[in-house]
Amino acid sequence: MHTGISNKVLRESNTSVLLSLINEKGLTTKSELSKLSSLSKSSISNLLESLINKKLIVSQSKRASNGGRKPKEYKINPNAHYAIGIDIGVQEVKGIIINLQGKILIKKSLDANYKKNTIINHVYKIINIIYNSFKEKEKILGAGISFAGLVDPKTSKIYYSPNIGGINESFKNLTKMLAMKIPLFIDKDANLAALCEYWFGSGKEKNTVLYIMADFGTGAGLVINGEIYRGYMGSACDPGHTTIDINGKSCVCGKFGCLETFTSYNAIIERFIEKYKKGGKTNIDEKDILSKNKMSVSKIIENALKGDPISLDIIKETGQLIGIAGSNLVNLFDPEIVILGGGLTSAKNLLFDPFKRLIVEREKIIQRKLIIESSKFGNDTCAIGAATIVLKNFFKGGEQAII
Ligand SMILES: [Zn+2]
Repeated sequence: MHTGISNKVLRESNTSVLLSLINEKGLTTKSELSKLSSLSKSSISNLLESLINKKLIVSQSKRASNGGRKPKEYKINPNAHYAIGIDIGVQEVKGIIINLQGKILIKKSLDANYKKNTIINHVYKIINIIYNSFKEKEKILGAGISFAGLVDPKTSKIYYSPNIGGINESFKNLTKMLAMKIPLFIDKDANLAALCEYWFGSGKEKNTVLYIMADFGTGAGLVINGEIYRGYMGSACDPGHTTIDINGKSCVCGKFGCLETFTSYNAIIERFIEKYKKGGKTNIDEKDILSKNKMSVSKIIENALKGDPISLDIIKETGQLIGIAGSNLVNLFDPEIVILGGGLTSAKNLLFDPFKRLIVEREKIIQRKLIIESSKFGNDTCAIGAATIVLKNFFKGGEQAII
């Protein structure tokens, strides 16, 4: 029967289905693949042979089974390909290269000075540094870029960037500047962090993964059945700019009483100073508290971990406030797992416990089977997620490159 699809196209799409399944399962057998894929056993045998010849997968020694024949197992060859991940942060621009298992092979970073140099120039520099220091260049599938702001998916122009700037810079210029012709992808940081967790972290084998990023701002990313939920302009899932106080202070986004007027790094410092002025007790020097340059969130976290009273209160309240965002998002999207990450999580349980407690208490009556965890990737989550979007496109497609 003529289906309108050529054998070559059919074979390519079957290969990609199989490759994607092997990648998802980690270690699998021919009969498992046949159950999962609806392909015939003989097609699977042919495709597996071709994937082994291309060195994309490897078969390994037979595992002991309950008598009878011992099936061969197949897995992705982790070093068949690599992906570059770039994290454009407020203070530094980081570049990594990972293999197909998410293992970081190279990591470099540059201090960010966006007043001296454009964002695009910083990214151009770091991509060249890591690309040139890597031997197996021909195996690099592409580069993903994590951005702590919003980029229009159609024009690749930055249109919202409260912490980094660069409004109207276009990432299309980057593709013209780079000598190597590899596909580039860009997305907001929290989306990519969620993707990192879905592929390599606690979100593995979960259908709906919500990542909450407690950092300079408060962001979130949502992965549903392996796809990032972005909305129309790529700005979906932004708890930092949801209103939690209708009479609240003005926010960098132009609205009033947003969550970030309490939980952004600047707001946390302001809340600390307010508490101090109301007579709160702290071991931090008054000179430091009242001098703009000497007060920082990392100082508050450091002191909270030593038991400093105001610092402890501030971190606990921040955990609760971000927990409110978490609870609201849980009500909107009903995720299977919520993962908390970002710079504030260096406060460990001082932030995580009140965050988790708040969500659990509010969801008691519904009796959700919700897992709430802290991210295990530290400050590499966004860079790994950026590289992961390249891998996702390789295995499953569906991502739009900048060029
Ligand atoms: Zn706002």
